[in-house]
Amino acid sequence: MIKIDHLVKNYGATPAVDDISFEVERGEIVGLLGPNGAGKSTTMNILAGYLSSTAGRVIVDGLNVLDQPLEVKKRIGYLPEQPPLYLDMTVEEYLIFVYNLKGCTLNRTKHLQEICEVVKLTDVYHRLIKNLSKGFRQRVGIAQALIGNPPVIIFDEPTVGLDPKQIIEVRNLIRTLGRDHTVILSTHILQEVQAVCDRIIIINKGKIVADELTENINRVASNTCRYQAKICGPQREVLAMLRERPDVAYAEVLAARDGEAYIYHIEGTKGVDIRKSLFYALSAKGWPLVGLETLGMNLEDIFISVVDKTDGAAEQKSAKGAKKGRTRTVEKDIAQSILDATAAKQNEIAPYEGDE
Ligand code: ADP
Ligand code: MG
Repeated sequence: MIKIDHLVKNYGATPAVDDISFEVERGEIVGLLGPNGAGKSTTMNILAGYLSSTAGRVIVDGLNVLDQPLEVKKRIGYLPEQPPLYLDMTVEEYLIFVYNLKGCTLNRTKHLQEICEVVKLTDVYHRLIKNLSKGFRQRVGIAQALIGNPPVIIFDEPTVGLDPKQIIEVRNLIRTLGRDHTVILSTHILQEVQAVCDRIIIINKGKIVADELTENINRVASNTCRYQAKICGPQREVLAMLRERPDVAYAEVLAARDGEAYIYHIEGTKGVDIRKSLFYALSAKGWPLVGLETLGMNLEDIFISVVDKTDGAAEQKSAKGAKKGRTRTVEKDIAQSILDATAAKQNEIAPYEGDE
């Protein structure tokens, strides 16, 4: 249904979208996931025909966006990051305005009524848009996208600024739409793609770094072994020892403690099971290992791991010393923008004196 072929968009010399290719089948719900500035909105704007590309092709329903922009636009319902609402219109006036703009030929009253029922706007149909809450304005934005019943729906960050109840409603709505539409949505919220999408495309710095069915996304990082270890012993020296080990790719100490043991998160180098060697190394030092469990990769870990990998492919395998002092800036960004307060608390990393 949608084919994006080696898409490039440069702003000056800087690439915002850097050779992106993917296809979306009819009826799929695909999530573009990426940190802020990854190139999601740029990709969607090009796809929807609102922005020209520097290079590459976009085909929607067999039509090239550049050759037949109007035909393509008819097939796409687009909710931009900032929905273009006219605040001084009522919901009704605005939807009629969009209906006329799109040259829609469906029975107007019936069509608009159906849409308003789907997005739950009926109660505010005669209200001025400027008097509506953020959640209702977003629904008006979604409603305008649905006018003309386009087969392809593109939603750019559809749940930003909504409260938890509204978020659930919008996600349910997207899932419902996904039954008979092709949907592409962008988000920087991991739970959102996991909750809504059949397939996840992770974008970082204008490039695709992962493209998997949601149920298979674990594969992306399946080679990485992560452990939580509880170790008695001097925190600083234990951490230094862990970080010096060639079979350890990453080690961090958590804020929480278990009795006299500090809790560490340790990532083995690819494909290496570090458990036995870790046990012997710690006992040789006289630091008892009092707990060791394998951590599953959740979407956050996968995201950080692929984004990190592409951010610092060279840096990744660089000198051990550099790794020791490395702050995971990406992780911090994400912790700020993605994790909700609770998760952030749980994952809080203890400041390690002398490290930063
Ligand atoms: P996302 O939607 O993933 O947050 P965007 O597609 O909005 O990312 O932006 C991708 C990159 O392109 C960012 O680095 C952004 O600063 C840059 N960018 C976006 N729009 C413009 C513009 N009109 N002029 C210059 N740079 C831009
Ligand atoms: Mg954006």
